[in-house]
Amino acid sequence: MSNVFWGMGAGAAGESAAQRARADMSARAAASHAREAQSESMFLEKRLDKLTLICMALWSLLSEKVQLTEEDLMERVKTIDLMDGEADGKLKRQIAKCAQCGRVMSPRHAKCIYCGADRLSLTAFDDVI
Ligand SMILES: [Zn+2]
Repeated sequence: MSNVFWGMGAGAAGESAAQRARADMSARAAASHAREAQSESMFLEKRLDKLTLICMALWSLLSEKVQLTEEDLMERVKTIDLMDGEADGKLKRQIAKCAQCGRVMSPRHAKCIYCGADRLSLTAFDDVI
């Protein structure tokens, strides 16, 4: 396809050098964001692989030491899945309230954005679910 056909060649009427420069900057920024997202995705995939491996190793040890069965594990997975009210294969994030001021706390913040109180961890999994 030629640029002449589409009327979009460099210097085409209606497109200034400034517009092209802005478009180039936007394209570079988008490419940079895409590379960052891909890098983050690869990092998360590695973490997931490692966590899966550790989880399987723990299960292997536990099932040997205390004679639990795969059925026991599957049943417990179902039970825990249902703890948030839905059997959907995942746990919903619980809405946490600040222990000091009672306002809703974002799961992304370690401190309350209103009063500065530290987030209280009630379980070892508070920071991951
Ligand atoms: Zn607070």
